Amino acid sequence: MKDCLLCGAGLRNEMPLGDLIRLTPLRKRTICEPCSAAFSPLESFPTCSGCGRKRTKEMPDPCYDCQRWEKDSQFKFINTALFEYNPAMKDYMKRYKFAGDYRLRQVFSERIHEQLRKQSAIIVPVPVGADTMATRGFNQVTGLLESDRYLELLNVRLDKKTIRQSEKNRQDRLMLGQPFEMMAPEKNQIKNQAVLLVDDVYTTGTTIRHAAALLLQAGAASVRGLTLAR
Ligand SMILES: [Zn+2]
Ligand SMILES: [Zn+2]
Repeated sequence: MKDCLLCGAGLRNEMPLGDLIRLTPLRKRTICEPCSAAFSPLESFPTCSGCGRKRTKEMPDPCYDCQRWEKDSQFKFINTALFEYNPAMKDYMKRYKFAGDYRLRQVFSERIHEQLRKQSAIIVPVPVGADTMATRGFNQVTGLLESDRYLELLNVRLDKKTIRQSEKNRQDRLMLGQPFEMMAPEKNQIKNQAVLLVDDVYTTGTTIRHAAALLLQAGAASVRGLTLAR
């Protein structure tokens, strides 16, 4: 018998009631029912068509955040999020990312795999910087993508000062302070292709939109986002 990765309780082999009702294929269980119930899947709620956040009755669609982005940027970006960034998810991220418990990638990898199987775009994970890599020892995004095919196309620039003056003109304000760079040899692989950017959390949207701007500039036909949480 395996133990729940989050609370350590023993996992029984029975099928969760929800899966029985929906007749979904049996997922490899990594956490117990009570731990699982603390997460809030966004597929069961109305969400913002821009960033994927849970939408309340008072909230317009797209949400105010997304409306601001639409005004400020030259391209439309659509993000889908799988779970709400609620206290359980916040706690999960703390343990997975900041305490660096690499086993916890398994908690959601099956769910992410299901989502990615549905579409054919080229999957590009948002990278982490060298300093994060050194302290944490892994990229939390590629950890989540373990069983999936993906292309590591982006790098975090080491030094923001290396952004050359020539890049600081007109067109896209997003390119100012661009924290990422393309890995040159792989650049051609996304020409005229649909790309799906994957990140762990969509917070302000700045990170994933910077990455999207770069991929579009490199010739991607379209770029969408998928995040574990919003
Ligand atoms: Zn548990
Ligand atoms: Zn939104």
